[in-house]
Amino acid sequence: MSEIIHRSKTRPVRVGNLTIGGSNELFIQSMTTTKTHDVEATVAEILRLEEAGCQVVRVACPDERAAYSIGEIKKRINIPLVVDIHFDYKLALIAIEQGADKIRINPGNIGRKEKVEAVVNAAKAKGIPIRIGVNAGSLEKKILEKYGYPTADGMVESALHHIKILEDLDFHDIIVSMKASDVNLAVEAYKKASQAFDYPLHLGITESGTLFAGSIKSAAGLGTLLSMGIGNTLRVSLSADPVEEIKVARELLKVFGLSSNAATLISCPTCGRIEIDLISIANEVEEYISNIKAPIKVAVLGCAVNGPGEAREADIGIAGARGEGLLFRKGKTVRKVPEETMVEELKIEIDKIAAEYFAQ
Ligand code: SF4
Repeated sequence: MSEIIHRSKTRPVRVGNLTIGGSNELFIQSMTTTKTHDVEATVAEILRLEEAGCQVVRVACPDERAAYSIGEIKKRINIPLVVDIHFDYKLALIAIEQGADKIRINPGNIGRKEKVEAVVNAAKAKGIPIRIGVNAGSLEKKILEKYGYPTADGMVESALHHIKILEDLDFHDIIVSMKASDVNLAVEAYKKASQAFDYPLHLGITESGTLFAGSIKSAAGLGTLLSMGIGNTLRVSLSADPVEEIKVARELLKVFGLSSNAATLISCPTCGRIEIDLISIANEVEEYISNIKAPIKVAVLGCAVNGPGEAREADIGIAGARGEGLLFRKGKTVRKVPEETMVEELKIEIDKIAAEYFAQ
C-alpha cells in the first residue's frame, strides 16, 4: 500500500467541512456544466460527481437567477460548493448570503474600494475563503504591457496584486490558481507562485482539450507539479462529462501516492507469451476496483514467466497460465485457480484485503 508523499506546506484554509492546504491531503475538484439556475439538473450533476469521488464542486454564477439558486443547491448536495463570479460584486454578495462555501472572484476586477470591502466583509462574516483565479489569457493590461505577453512572472505579479488587496483588508483565507493552457507556462507559474506566497494552490491546466488529449496534457502539467509537492486542490479540465475529470484526477493522484482511498490496477501490456484474455480481464478488474476505497494494488498479468515477480508491489494479483491462473500476493504464489473462476476468486481476495486494510 502506498505512502502519501504530499510535501507542500501552505496556510490551511477552510472550505465547508474541508481544510485545504496545511499538511492536508489534496482534494479533487470539478465544475458543473449545467445552467446553475436549473437547480434540478445542477444538483443531479453534482450528485453524479460526488459518486465518482469529487470532493469540491464549482458552479458558474453569471446572473442573479444563478446566485439565488445557490441556497437550494447547497441543501441538496454533500460537498463544498464554490461559486464562480466575474466582476459583479452584487452576485458575490448574494452567493455568500445564500451559503457559498467559497467564492472565486478576483478582487482587483470588482471595481471601487467600497464594493471590494463589501465582498470581503461578507466573506469574513461567513468565514469563507476567496479564490483568486489568475489566468494567462486574461492578465491585466498593465502587466501585459510590462512583460509583452503572458509570462509566469506576470502571472505571479497579477496574483500578488489581488492578494495585496485582500491582505490590506486583513483578509487571509485565500486560495490561488495560476491557470494557463500552455503546460510549460502553467508549471512555471505555479512553481514561482509556490515560492512567492504560502496560500494554498488550486491546480489546473485550463482549456486542456478533449477526454483523450486533455487527460494527457493535464497529466503532464499537473503531474509535474504534483511530483514537486505543489498543489492543494486540483481540477482536470476536459471538454467532456465532468465525471471523466474526476476519474482522470483520481488516477493521477494514485500515480503519485496521493490518494488514500482508491485502489490501483497494475496490468501488463501483453505479448506473445500471453495465456489469458488479459485486456478484458484488466478492464473488468479496473471497473471492480473503482469502488474499492482502500489504497491497495491489484495486478493482472498475461503469463507467469516474469509475472508475479514483475508485480512484487501488488497486494494481490493474478497471472495467466495454460487453462488456469496463479493467484499471488506480494510476489509470492498463493494458489492455482481454474481459468473460468479466476476473476471471481481475485475479486474475493481483493475484498478480503480491503477489509484487512480497514480493520488495521
Ligand atoms: Fe508478456 Fe507475460 Fe509480461 Fe504480460 S506478463 S507482458 S504476457 S511476459
